[in-house]
Amino acid sequence: NVRVRFAPSPTGPLHMGGVRTALFNYLFAKKHNGTFVLRIEDTDQTRYVANAEQYIINSLEWCNIPFDEGPGKNEKFGPYRQSERKDLYKKYADQLIESGWAYYAFDTAEELDAHRKDHEEKGKTFIYNWHNRLKLNNSLALSADEVSEKINAGEKYVIRFKTPQDETLILQDEIRGTIKVETNTLDDKVLFKSDGMPTYHLANIVDDHLMEISHVIRGEEWLPSLPLHELLYRAFGWKAPKFAHLPLILKPVGKGKLSKRDGDKLGFPVFPLEYTNEETNDVSRGYREDGYFADAFINMLAFLGWNPGTEQEMFSLEELVEAFDLSRVSKSGAKFSPDKTKWFNQQYLQQKSNKVLTDLYLPILEEKGIKTDEAYAEKVVGLIKERATFVADFWELSNFFFENPSEYDEKAAKKQWKPETGALMQELIEVISKIEDFSVENAQTDIKGWITSKEIGFGKVMQPLRLSLVGKLAGPDLFDIMTMIGKETTITRIQNAIN
Ligand code: GLU
Repeated sequence: NVRVRFAPSPTGPLHMGGVRTALFNYLFAKKHNGTFVLRIEDTDQTRYVANAEQYIINSLEWCNIPFDEGPGKNEKFGPYRQSERKDLYKKYADQLIESGWAYYAFDTAEELDAHRKDHEEKGKTFIYNWHNRLKLNNSLALSADEVSEKINAGEKYVIRFKTPQDETLILQDEIRGTIKVETNTLDDKVLFKSDGMPTYHLANIVDDHLMEISHVIRGEEWLPSLPLHELLYRAFGWKAPKFAHLPLILKPVGKGKLSKRDGDKLGFPVFPLEYTNEETNDVSRGYREDGYFADAFINMLAFLGWNPGTEQEMFSLEELVEAFDLSRVSKSGAKFSPDKTKWFNQQYLQQKSNKVLTDLYLPILEEKGIKTDEAYAEKVVGLIKERATFVADFWELSNFFFENPSEYDEKAAKKQWKPETGALMQELIEVISKIEDFSVENAQTDIKGWITSKEIGFGKVMQPLRLSLVGKLAGPDLFDIMTMIGKETTITRIQNAIN
């Protein structure tokens, strides 16, 4: 029974690395007819951001990868916010104390700082573990009476994990294979804080156990926590889930991990949705607002660390579910490419029906003050979409279908509009006005016939004609344009250009 979870901390907007983790969990769950759980890990009160949870949920929704269980949804293992499960963790910490897997530590922040300094001066690093824990201020170093005295006196304490000594842990990762870690290099991590809250480690393990999580799929930055997590399962006597750590997402240029700041610096969004920081009012761009399709964004993300082992690049969500396999997730970092992301969007745009694209285009046209009917707009979309990457490109590519050019490309006009062009265009107007049924075929036959009979070459007529109708030397086939805007408008525009 596959149960996976996405367990973000609501400390700010979810960036695309987070969405990638959610996506891989979703794909894995769906592939195995399992359950995709959303758990909000909000035990760190100091880093809590109020609108972050809603942002996370909205992002998953936009990406079309909804959770099956989570806050407000199928709450059979709920609550799914750790802050609402607060009272539950202490008993597990106590359990570890009883079984000798954890101990109270009374060291103050000042004392710990002093130890750190002291070590630094000797060129060493202070690690709180087996080699010095008996000399520090904790229940392993003190007598039972001393410990109860301190606790009864209300002295603040944390609960630390007692990491076993002299052991080589042999850990399994579904992506990385076998990993060996010497326990002597690990520190005795705090499991329970003096503010009455569990740390990430304790809450995470307890909840994964209680929520019956079968596979933990998360970012590589959590790999260093794996030894402790495995040891915690052992300490509790619980069966550990399988672990899979996803490779880092790397910057498009240079070296290193893609950071939240790279987006603004390098000019692309790192967030799925636009995000407003409520404290600073800073707005960060989002893929949705930048005009990306969710399915293109998801397709791009799927390839950050995974590949199908074939040449196929375009995958619908269903196809991704079908093809996804942890064994095809790579160990090495995946370079993010803004250009590839645009490419995906352009590909998806071509696949969308003209109707769907038109529905997205109509509000833009309305905003431009254009009155048009849907059928006309849909035809326009069909003619121009192959040149577009975003729906937002449509206006630039098609404004001449809706309004007369207000200016002419100067360079092109200089080159194409010769002294004899005016007279030629006047003659062309004659030819056009005589075409009774103004269809593409008729226009082609008559206009091309006329040019051929004049023996002047097509460019001499067609280029100035394009300038007259479009305002520049761009756009789809001229006969399509003419028949779309109609005979009258065609003539008006040529006349305007002559004047
Ligand atoms: N709360 C952790 C995070 O913010 C979860 C890590 C994990 O999946 O274990 O990513």
